[in-house]
Amino acid sequence: MNITGYFSEEDSNPTIYRGKMTLRSNYTIVDADESCYQYVGKYSALPLTGLAHPEDTDAVRDALERLKEGTQRVIFRMMCGNGSYRYMYAMLSLNGRVVDGEAYIDVELMDIMRVYYKFDSDHSKIGKYRKLMSLSDKMYFEYRYEEKTVTIFEYINDRGNLRFSDTMEHFQERVLESGEFNDKQKAEFETLLDCLKHHVEKMDVDMDGRIFGFDGGYLNLKGGIAYEDQSKKMMVAVVTTLGKVDLEEKYYMTRHAFDGATGVYNKRAINELAADLMVGSGDKTIFLCVTDIDDFKNINDTFGHLVGDQVIAKVAAVIKDVLAARGFVGRFGGDEFLIVTDKVKTEDELIMMLKTIRKHISWSCAELLGNVMDVTTSIGIARYPKDASNYGDLFKIADKCLYLAKAKGKNRFILYNEELHKDYNMETTSGKTSTGKSLDIYSRSCRAVVDILGNEGQDSRESFDESVKEMLSSYDIDRMGIFTGEKYERVYEAGNCEGFVEELTFLDDPKLVEEFDENGIYARNGILSLRESFPELYEQLEKQETKGFLVVKVELSDKRIVVVVYDVHDHPRKWSSNDKGLLYIAAQVLVRRYCALEK
Ligand code: GH3
Ligand code: MG
Repeated sequence: MNITGYFSEEDSNPTIYRGKMTLRSNYTIVDADESCYQYVGKYSALPLTGLAHPEDTDAVRDALERLKEGTQRVIFRMMCGNGSYRYMYAMLSLNGRVVDGEAYIDVELMDIMRVYYKFDSDHSKIGKYRKLMSLSDKMYFEYRYEEKTVTIFEYINDRGNLRFSDTMEHFQERVLESGEFNDKQKAEFETLLDCLKHHVEKMDVDMDGRIFGFDGGYLNLKGGIAYEDQSKKMMVAVVTTLGKVDLEEKYYMTRHAFDGATGVYNKRAINELAADLMVGSGDKTIFLCVTDIDDFKNINDTFGHLVGDQVIAKVAAVIKDVLAARGFVGRFGGDEFLIVTDKVKTEDELIMMLKTIRKHISWSCAELLGNVMDVTTSIGIARYPKDASNYGDLFKIADKCLYLAKAKGKNRFILYNEELHKDYNMETTSGKTSTGKSLDIYSRSCRAVVDILGNEGQDSRESFDESVKEMLSSYDIDRMGIFTGEKYERVYEAGNCEGFVEELTFLDDPKLVEEFDENGIYARNGILSLRESFPELYEQLEKQETKGFLVVKVELSDKRIVVVVYDVHDHPRKWSSNDKGLLYIAAQVLVRRYCALEK
């Protein structure tokens, strides 16, 4: 492979400038930053050894096995989401965190072509500079020589808030020709113009605040030229207000706009900011994501409020960190946060970002909770202008999606889809009882399980089929099969059964037996993780297009084993603990009814 060749293709290929991931002891990813997730794409369930090019696997495995000796460095080809490989420089070290004897591993990755480019060092310099800017309540002036734009902004919460912005051409026209300004003001403006036009190295000018649209008072602009690659990039200056300058104060630009416990915006601020962003966005997409911690009361009850507070602060910090300059986050109160983005361009980017946030939360809160409880979150998402034209409606839609995410078993995000979600309202859903009364998702799924209990003593094949059908539809399952006999032959199937496996030949594999829990349940949200550990099973699942499955082994009183397989094939499926419990009961009942009918 030509190493320099691929660099020129970088626009079409994902790259890792500098990425970091943490691995479990089986080398699969437990947490990673967004660029890593972006890079590995659909292969995120593979262990690092599986991501390495076959010729480099040994080198990577060798490095991983020598971690006890200290940090290991290795250059290897790593597969990205589109199946191609790029050369990575990796630094591997033990993370120090050990849970149940399992030692976690940190991996720092750098695309080796990127090492030549000092992107990161510049990036962190800007980051530091902005942190400092946030500490001061001063405003900043910038004139960009190339774009010929003038801005005045201030830094609040690591984020620039615009106070004034115009092109020089328009600015000049307005001040010098509109008749709005007197001669003194025009002369002051021309002084500024001279400094900018003649590229003076240092400037120090006083200007009437009205020139920039502020009410009265004077501004002092003191600064000089900022260079990039030895060319004059822009004129930057610190703005000091002299006398009283009245700025149009938005609440979210004030120092009162932040939640004391977490440092992110408070409810009023994020609400006003989100509404303003929509107004000023033109047709640019704004995403609104209502985020709520799952079962937070449990955390409080188990670990106490103090730890609960720390979890809330951690969640806020993670969101703020991953979101960076792409949008804003505010605490809505309790364990609920609102994320609004104006610089996330596509749904794919948003989903990648939310995925990273959710993984980071889980990972970084684990230690607070003694590694015994996982902090998960549910998120409802709506888009402006696609889903609603005003903030109030947009929020209601995002909130409805959050409600649906909770009802479907939590630990997931739901992006509003008009076709699927329009008919759900917060109290009622499209599920109807025989009396015509509406049921919510939760009641509907419970009802489906009650239904399968059947009518005692007068069961028939038709009513059995009917129960199965209702259950598949309430649980979003595409097909179901019952398998029994020496080779676990399929004796019953429902739903779309094209290509569905005839015999469960792998079931007695001792390695697979271990995957079943104490209730005889084996569930997978996706199948990719089986590619390495159970290649034949993986191949079969691929062939029958299974995206996720849940298997229940039922042992009857005569010791016969009957297996129920539920699977999905047109969309991935998350099995919540609620789903697992109810589908377990359903399997127990359906198997018994089926066997009774066969007699
Ligand atoms: P769900 O999955 O449905 O969201 O369940 P939940 O337990 O998280 O329920 P909900 O979001 O309704 O409740 C949030 C709880 O958070 C209620 C309150 O007791 C607790 N809480 C609210 N503010 C704080 C806080 O500042 N600190 C702590 N420790 N707890 C808080
Ligand atoms: Mg909650």
